[in-house]
Amino acid sequence: MDSRKVVVIGSGPGGSGVAALLAHAGYSVTLLEKNGFLGGKCSSLEEAGYVVDTGIHMFGRGPAGPFGLIASILGERLDWCLNNPMIDLHLSNLGVIHLTHTLFNPLGFPTMAKALFKGWIKPKTSESKRTARRNNAERERKVLGHLNHQKNVAYLSEYEDMSVKDFYTSITENEHFLRFIHSLAMITMVIPWDRASVADFLYIRASNLHANHFGYPKGGAGAIPATFLRGLKRYGGTIRTETEVASIEVRNGRVTGVTTAEGEFIPADIVISNAGIHRTLDLAGRANFPGEYIQRADGLNLSDAFIATKYFLDRRITSMEAPCMFYVPDMDSSHMFDYLTNGGVPKDPYLFITVPGIADAHLMPLGKDLFMVGIPAPNDLAKVDQCNKLLDLAEDVAENKLFPEIRGAVIKKQRSIVTQTSLLTGRATGECIGLAQEVGQTGTKKPRCETPVHGLYLVGSDAGGRGIGTECAAESALHLYRILTYHMNS
Ligand SMILES: Cc1cc2nc3c(=O)[nH]c(=O)nc-3n(C[C@H](O)[C@H](O)[C@H](O)COP(=O)(O)OP(=O)(O)OC[C@H]3O[C@@H](n4cnc5c(N)ncnc54)[C@H](O)[C@@H]3O)c2cc1C
Repeated sequence: MDSRKVVVIGSGPGGSGVAALLAHAGYSVTLLEKNGFLGGKCSSLEEAGYVVDTGIHMFGRGPAGPFGLIASILGERLDWCLNNPMIDLHLSNLGVIHLTHTLFNPLGFPTMAKALFKGWIKPKTSESKRTARRNNAERERKVLGHLNHQKNVAYLSEYEDMSVKDFYTSITENEHFLRFIHSLAMITMVIPWDRASVADFLYIRASNLHANHFGYPKGGAGAIPATFLRGLKRYGGTIRTETEVASIEVRNGRVTGVTTAEGEFIPADIVISNAGIHRTLDLAGRANFPGEYIQRADGLNLSDAFIATKYFLDRRITSMEAPCMFYVPDMDSSHMFDYLTNGGVPKDPYLFITVPGIADAHLMPLGKDLFMVGIPAPNDLAKVDQCNKLLDLAEDVAENKLFPEIRGAVIKKQRSIVTQTSLLTGRATGECIGLAQEVGQTGTKKPRCETPVHGLYLVGSDAGGRGIGTECAAESALHLYRILTYHMNS
């Protein structure tokens, strides 16, 4: 048992995960959350009998990733919905193929046959690219195999400085496949492929293939932090909502506690911040960090945003089979997301659509459904106009092209844009993931959980982990737990 006092700032998957793990290890843990509810960007709120995710979520590794590991360490139960089909892939106006939550499902064979037949995954290369393609395809196979069998992430460092675009355009010229890869980089890392680091992308692909359990938790996205926080309480931790930390107190290079917005001082030997690296520097006082650290942190970019329209429907959706759909636009693979930097709206949008009631019918009132359509957007809070135009387009495609059945069934439409995300996190932007997993800031170049201030640590998607959004944050929690319990035991 360790009686050291830990304060955790924030209850996202990273904060709630590490708080519960440390309480389980015997630390005295207090978690402070500024919002009136728990879970950060991965929370679910009840509204007129509908359980509504604050974001628009699906989970790459389901029970077989870091969530399952944390729940099992805590001895808490977290159930998953693993549907077949789990994903409808609508590719470039060629139609829909159904993907299962696991590759090794009989439904997968007709899917692959259909994709091959339509040329979606058939590589088409010119003579000049043939050698590079062979070499890089071989490299991809090796990396994926290596990660799958040996889980050796150190192997990835040689790919950190290569973008997803450079890697995959050297493998194939097949536009359908490249569009799919660019969309996959966007949905998993929420940045365009020329920024995205292929090291993290390969890690995501390999870990998802290995886990083979793409899924959605019973009870909604918020069930994940709720499970961790149930564990935190069971191991004697304290949770306080509507408690914003206004400053992290530092004396002689080490933390002494935090002061809340109400002026209450809470002493602590260890402070763990889930508020993001930039906000943490402000809370702890920039003067307490070496200039080099500040300069590096200030140069780090955040991911782009995901915004959504949520349709509350008076009946069940019947024309969608899986709980989510990736709609890949009919556009040049290199220019699909130019609008994120150039402004405006694309000719055809990339959409992520979820109907959580297909996964877990208990989330909706009997006979009703929630239909969510999401689209990538810039994270800048000044771009509200562009966000609204993007959602006009997303709604138009959803209502008039993909799912006309929703038109007569809408009780209420609710838009959630960058300003709402920023309110959820307390950050100055509406970014989706947290720190961008881009070239120059992943793997060995990603901020560590440890900071130069003694006793102050970072947790969440900004530090230490790899993987998709919530799973990256949960990996960070596991990583920090290992660091702190290693010190405790040694
Ligand atoms: C629209 C949308 C869709 C997404 N889709 C997916 C998806 O499909 N799959 C996926 O894996 N990920 C998805 N994500 C990303 C994922 O939700 C985030 O990457 C993840 O939640 C980050 O977790 P975190 O632990 O870093 O902290 P966050 O979830 O960002 O939580 C941080 C917490 O800290 C609290 N906090 C901040 N400052 C203070 C303070 N001063 N005092 C007290 N509390 C404070 C905040 O209130 C918040 O609760 C999506 C995000 C959005 C917005």
